[in-house]
Amino acid sequence: MRESEIIIIGGGIAGVSTAYHLARDGRAVTLLERGSIAGEASGLNAGNIGATGWGNLPNLNSYLTMGSLEIFKTLQLDLDYDIEFRQCGALQAIQTEEQYDFAQERVQRLRSQGHNQELLSTREARSIEPGLNPDLLGLVYTPLRAQADPEKATRAMASAAEAAGAAILAHHEVTGVAQLGDGSYQVMVQGDEFRAATLVIAAGAWCRQVGEMLGLSIPIVPVRGQMWATEPLPPLVFHTISATESTIHWHTTPGGGLETPPELTHQGELRVTRHLYGRQNHIGEIIFGGDRQLAGYQQVPDATGIEANRGHAAEILPMLNRLPIRRTWAGLMPFSPDGEPVIGKIPQRDNLYILTGLCSSGFGRGPMAGKLLADYIHTGDRPLVLSEADPARCVTEIG
Ligand SMILES: Cc1cc2nc3c(=O)[nH]c(=O)nc-3n(C[C@H](O)[C@H](O)[C@H](O)COP(=O)(O)OP(=O)(O)OC[C@H]3O[C@@H](n4cnc5c(N)ncnc54)[C@H](O)[C@@H]3O)c2cc1C
Repeated sequence: MRESEIIIIGGGIAGVSTAYHLARDGRAVTLLERGSIAGEASGLNAGNIGATGWGNLPNLNSYLTMGSLEIFKTLQLDLDYDIEFRQCGALQAIQTEEQYDFAQERVQRLRSQGHNQELLSTREARSIEPGLNPDLLGLVYTPLRAQADPEKATRAMASAAEAAGAAILAHHEVTGVAQLGDGSYQVMVQGDEFRAATLVIAAGAWCRQVGEMLGLSIPIVPVRGQMWATEPLPPLVFHTISATESTIHWHTTPGGGLETPPELTHQGELRVTRHLYGRQNHIGEIIFGGDRQLAGYQQVPDATGIEANRGHAAEILPMLNRLPIRRTWAGLMPFSPDGEPVIGKIPQRDNLYILTGLCSSGFGRGPMAGKLLADYIHTGDRPLVLSEADPARCVTEIG
C-alpha cells in the first residue's frame, strides 16, 4: 500500500492544477491518471481561453476566467513552459439584425458591469482580422481573450506539479475506492493500492463512475465536442473566432432537463443551433469546432456535424471554402445538470472533494478552479466564491 496525504483521480486540467497548487502549498499529493496526462478533453479542446475582465462585482466566473488567465501567463512567461500562450483577443461574428440587437444590448450591459468588450463595425474588425467576410453586420471584440495549446499547457501544469513535489502517475486506472474505518481512502489501481486521508475526484466525464465506487451519484454527463483542422498554412487568422448564433439561441431557449444539460447544439439527433469557435494554431492549422451533442461515451466525430460547422465557419471566414479538412477529432466534455461548475467538498463523506462540471470552457477555467479547490483543502476554509459551485446541490447517495 502506497501512502500519500492527498490522492487526486484524473490527469486533465482540473486534476493537474489542483495537484500543482497543493504541492506548492507543501502538501504530499499523488495524482492517478488512467491514460496519459491531457489524454482526454484537456488535450483535445480548441485551446480558447475566455475572459472579459473581473467586473465591478467579481463572481465565480470572473475568478475562474481571470484567475486562469494569470496562471496561463505564469506558466508561459515566468516558469518558461512553452504552452503557445498568446493574448490574441476574440472576435464574435454577428450575422443577422436580431443578433446585432442582442449583441449590442449584451455589450452595453457587460461594459456597465465593468467588463471589457466592445462592438466593432465589420470594417473596423477587418482592419485587425483581414480574412473576415465583409458582409457580416459587425463583431463583438473581447481583447482579454487568449489561446494556448491545450496539450502542452496541461502537461506543463503537470510538470510544474512534479517540480513542486507531486507524484504524477499516468497509466494508473482507478478501479475501486473504499473508505476505511479511520476515514482514510483506499484506492485500487491494477496491481497496486494507494491510501490517503483526502481524496479529490477530477475525473472529467467519468466522475459518475468514480462516484459509484463510493456509493455516490455524481450526475456528470459526457457531451461530445468535435473539431476539424486544415493543413498547416501561413498566418491567416489572428484572433479566436466565434459566432453569435448559439449565444442568442441559448439565451432564449437554454434547454436542459433531468438527463439533458443545458446549452447543447442538438436534441437527440436534431440540430437546434449552430455553435462555433476556432483559431489558427502554432503549426498553422486553422481549427474549428462547436457541436455539443449527447452521444454516450462515443468519441468518433459525426461527419454531418463537421460539415455544418465548416459551412458556418466559412460564412465568417470565406477563405475556408477553398481549404480542405485534413483531420477531425472529438472529446468528451463534463457537463453538470445545470451547466455550472461543481467544485468543493462532497458533504456525504469526510475529506472527499470534487472538481468537475467545467463543461465546454474547462480549459480556460480549469487552472483557477484547481487553485481555488487547493486553497479550500489546504486551509480548510472554503473560498467565498465557491459557494456558487457547491457539490451539495447535485451529489446524492445511491439508493
Ligand atoms: C472538442 C472540444 C473543444 C473544447 N474547446 C474548449 C475551449 O476552446 N476552451 C475551453 O475552455 N474549453 C474547451 N473544451 C472543454 C474542456 O476541454 C473541458 O471542460 C476540460 O478539459 C475538462 O477538464 P477535466 O480535467 O475536468 O476533464 P478531462 O480532461 O477529461 O480529464 C479527466 C481525466 O480523468 C481521467 N480518468 C477518468 N476516469 C479515471 C479513472 N478511473 N482512473 C484514473 N483516471 C481517470 C481521464 O482519463 C481524463 O484524463 C472543449 C472540449 C472539447 C471536447
